[in-house]
Amino acid sequence: MELACLDLEGVLIPEIWIAFAERTGIEELRATTRDIPDYDVLMKQRLRLLDQHGLKLDDIQAVIATLEPLPGAAEFLDWLRARFQVIILSDTFYEFSAPLMRQLGWPTLLCHKLVVDEGGSVIDYTLRQKDPKRASIQALHTLNYRIIAAGDSYNDTTMLGEADVGLLFHAPQNVIDEFPQFEAVHNFPALKAAFIAASHRSLTL
Ligand SMILES: [Mg+2]
Repeated sequence: MELACLDLEGVLIPEIWIAFAERTGIEELRATTRDIPDYDVLMKQRLRLLDQHGLKLDDIQAVIATLEPLPGAAEFLDWLRARFQVIILSDTFYEFSAPLMRQLGWPTLLCHKLVVDEGGSVIDYTLRQKDPKRASIQALHTLNYRIIAAGDSYNDTTMLGEADVGLLFHAPQNVIDEFPQFEAVHNFPALKAAFIAASHRSLTL
């Protein structure tokens, strides 16, 4: 039995915070873990900025609803789901990803949750567990699945290492150079071919 696990942002949808910063013009929201390595410090800054600009969860979701999956992503996901059971493993939050997941036909998503008060303001967040992508692959292995995984960045590398086959997709050159053990592909036709090659079944395009 084979299972496909995909990262979300940078693979199927744009980076939500960067796209959100562009739509709202709030430049400081462009900061990522490359600028502020401590994820908790980064998230607290993001939540403070949302509060300062008076953005409640509804407002944020309305902006995110104007975003679209990456070109070709919905078609690729349909193709993959016809051939594998697919689970998306992401470090995003259910509440932020919802408008984009709707456009992808609500695939199975394991990620994190926001804490929202009665007034609809985002006041905190809850991470599901430590190293969640790797832990998910480990858990799925206990169910006797062979797993092929694809992701684009540093936060995917423990998932790719734990999977039976790990693929880099749309990854920046520094990640490709640092993790030469993972095959790197750059577009959806090549990713389809890589999944077919990685499978033990005789799949076709
Ligand atoms: Mg990503």
